[in-house]
Amino acid sequence: MPAIDIENLSFSYGDKQALKDVSIVVEEGDFTGLIGPNGSGKTTLIKNILGFIESEKGEIEIFGEKAMDFSDWNRIGYIPQHFEEDKQFPGTVRELLEANRSITGSTENIESLDIDSFLDSKFKDLSGGQKQRAMLALALQKNPDILILDEPSLGVDVEAQENFYNLIKELNDQGTTIILVTHDIGVVSEHTDKVICINNSVCCQGKTENLSKHVEEVYGDNYRLFHHMHEH
Ligand code: ADP
Repeated sequence: MPAIDIENLSFSYGDKQALKDVSIVVEEGDFTGLIGPNGSGKTTLIKNILGFIESEKGEIEIFGEKAMDFSDWNRIGYIPQHFEEDKQFPGTVRELLEANRSITGSTENIESLDIDSFLDSKFKDLSGGQKQRAMLALALQKNPDILILDEPSLGVDVEAQENFYNLIKELNDQGTTIILVTHDIGVVSEHTDKVICINNSVCCQGKTENLSKHVEEVYGDNYRLFHHMHEH
């Protein structure tokens, strides 16, 4: 049974159609990169899966259950794109984790994240890489079966990014299904096993080794531009 199975999903913000007839499958245990240029509907697709917004057309199934009937949301961990909104949060990482534990109520699974050295630092004072690990720790407190990461490496230096992707790979090796949203073709070809490429509708999906060349050809100029911006 797929972890996520979406059929003919369409979604519009008013007159603006963000998703058109999107059909995708994410199998349990996959490490999937969801890729597409800025504005291609990646975040909209994730928000539909998480039930933050509701599609007017199409079907979403999570572990074989229709999304609207699905209730075990602890099975899905989500790290959103904008940590910036949390910048003003006055608490420490330890306080955040304790508050979160009282909501999720489940055991911790975060020893490998190496967050001890900044547990008592305020979240807003952390570096990009530390924030990323703190966010991952929060998501892992639920012991999720699926982990969805939306552009997790924005504002994070290269070494911290590498460490972070290694952690994600370990989680995947232990059986967690990973969906990594990014516009960075380099990240997808290096770290994921499968790729779904969208530009409001699905352009291609399949094994990364078969598709990364194709994706590069379709979106080459965009990706070069983004790489350039990261580097400087
Ligand atoms: P991506 O995550 O791939 O950058 P998004 O899903 O954020 O793309 O956006 C897809 C399209 O929908 C874009 O054209 C964007 O401007 C539009 N959009 C996103 N969120 C909203 C919103 N809340 N209201 C109106 N339009 C939106």
